[in-house]
Amino acid sequence: MRILLVEDERKLAAVIKKGLKEVHYAVDLADNGDDALFLAQSNPYDLIILDIMLPGKDGIFICRHLRRDKNDTPILMLTARDDVEDKISGLDAGADDYLTKPFSFPEFLARVRALLRRKNTEKSTRLKVVDLELDQLTHRVYRAGKEIELTPTEYTLLEYLMIHVGQVVTRTMISEHVWNDDFDAFSNVINVYVNYLRKKVDRGHTRQLIHSLRGVGYILKDK
Ligand code: CA
Repeated sequence: MRILLVEDERKLAAVIKKGLKEVHYAVDLADNGDDALFLAQSNPYDLIILDIMLPGKDGIFICRHLRRDKNDTPILMLTARDDVEDKISGLDAGADDYLTKPFSFPEFLARVRALLRRKNTEKSTRLKVVDLELDQLTHRVYRAGKEIELTPTEYTLLEYLMIHVGQVVTRTMISEHVWNDDFDAFSNVINVYVNYLRKKVDRGHTRQLIHSLRGVGYILKDK
């Protein structure tokens, strides 16, 4: 899952970014409204966390602009003030949820998960494909009941493949949703990670779940 974090308070932005990365989200950071709008329009984010008071365009303007462009990425708005007016204008502008600073990090994460679930129309926090299970709350993965140890990148990649079970996932889709903008599009890093993942998930099992489609991408098959 790839998230755009828009927050101009440096310390808070660093804490949120670190916390999100620890639970395996790919995070891009914008510290002003103009960069935020540009990034939001250029990349298919799974979620945007949007502070209201920003240098340049403010959060309300950005939110309204994206909705007018038919961009339906879930938006979680942040504001320093517990102001009902702010809350109303945020939601009216098309935000999906709203959080007042300071907030507790566990509550923040729960809201992030809820918005990402809503986007994927997946009610459960546990994804299951044949005998492969992934728990989005604990970040644990099991094959045939046996736990598999994954690195954060492998986890994010597997989660993305499982959400799109039965669908072809291209390298472009993976690069846009699994990696943040540090990603080098010309490297073969995706191939390398899919191979790591395939070894951990499929090795020793008769049924292979992760398949490569030459020149196209990858597919996690449930039948
Ligand atoms: Ca701010």
